[in-house]
Amino acid sequence: MTWKRPWRRLLDLVLGTEPKLRGRVKLSMIAVYGYVISSMLLAYGMDIGLVEQGWGWVLMAYIWVGMPTFYLLVRTDLSSRLGNPGMDLPQCLYAIVAILFAYVITGPVRSSVLMLVSLVLVFGMFTLSARQVVIMGVFTVLGLGVVMTAMVWQHPDLFDARLEFIKFVLTACTLPALSAVAFYVAQVRERLVQRKQALREALARLEQVAMRDELTGLYNRRHMQALVEQQALRQQRSGEGFCLAIIDLDHFKQINDRLGHQAGDQVLGTFARVAGEVMRQTDTLARWGGEEFLLMFTAPDPGTPGVEAALDRLRRAAAAAHWPAGIHVTFSAGVTAHPLGEPLHETLERADRGLYEAKAAGRNRTVVLPAPSATRPTMQGELAETGQV
Ligand code: GH3
Ligand code: MG
Ligand code: MG
Repeated sequence: MTWKRPWRRLLDLVLGTEPKLRGRVKLSMIAVYGYVISSMLLAYGMDIGLVEQGWGWVLMAYIWVGMPTFYLLVRTDLSSRLGNPGMDLPQCLYAIVAILFAYVITGPVRSSVLMLVSLVLVFGMFTLSARQVVIMGVFTVLGLGVVMTAMVWQHPDLFDARLEFIKFVLTACTLPALSAVAFYVAQVRERLVQRKQALREALARLEQVAMRDELTGLYNRRHMQALVEQQALRQQRSGEGFCLAIIDLDHFKQINDRLGHQAGDQVLGTFARVAGEVMRQTDTLARWGGEEFLLMFTAPDPGTPGVEAALDRLRRAAAAAHWPAGIHVTFSAGVTAHPLGEPLHETLERADRGLYEAKAAGRNRTVVLPAPSATRPTMQGELAETGQV
């Protein structure tokens, strides 16, 4: 439809586009609705002589200053900087003052004006906290009491004390009941907000658990698989190559046998911490399984100085780390590049062969296996099909 687009644009302009802000502005619109209808009736009241012109215009000015001010404060989000994003309680109290003012100047229809209090309560129900609902309820009843007493005192000819008393008691009885409903709704809303927050935190914790290895805090195998796959896809677009190194601690079984499984766990944790400290931020380290780690270097070739330097740094750091008495932790590593288009499991198998050769050659060393130079294009699906990466 042709009218839809300008209409949507107008709505975006009036309400804003950011969802939270839009929600707040929409609620402010309840106030705008109440004010616009009321000021039209006020104008009519002045026109037919029901409302005295002077006071009528004062109330009109009060409405037309307050309404755009609150709208603009919320719409421009200046309200957030004032520490009250929805301007909820100030808007409610402002409206109650307007209603009390109208009650004084609207002569025989003043009782009907009190109905507008329920409109303010509905607004409050969706915006105020439970505590604020109580504040507003008390403010309204006290305000009404003060206004009625003052009027009976100053203008006993217009405000009959007995009638005002009946109206006050009726309103004062009804308001707490209405406020109680608003209070209950506000409490439910507050609980919902808390639960949403708790769920968000739980989700963040779950994401951490799903991504991280519990013992070492490094990425776990599953997440690392996803990261390596992502890197391979990126390589297809940018041509930016990467290398994989499989690292395996030497004679780790002996550490377990001599010191126990718990001490073995501590050694794994310390090794992970040391490795995390010496690696560059652009390189990614994960626990690949048992006492094996997988390192992904953003360098295109294992001959790149950064790759060998990183493994040497790790070797030195592992030698210098603080280990249980009599323990020396060394590792063997197999490194290779991932040529564009090669299925990832082939790259990993080659790195594994390098590791095997390093072990066979006496351990505590790195063996670099060159990648096949011939590359062939890969369908994206092939990466996923391999299953084992
Ligand atoms: P190599 O130099 O050939 O790698 O010898 P190794 O003893 O390190 O290798 P092997 O595969 O024989 O033993 C690995 C040991 O790692 C066996 C296993 O019990 C131990 N291990 C695997 N995961 C954990 C773990 O989470 N905690 C502890 N403490 N030990 C583990
Ligand atoms: Mg092993
Ligand atoms: Mg080992």
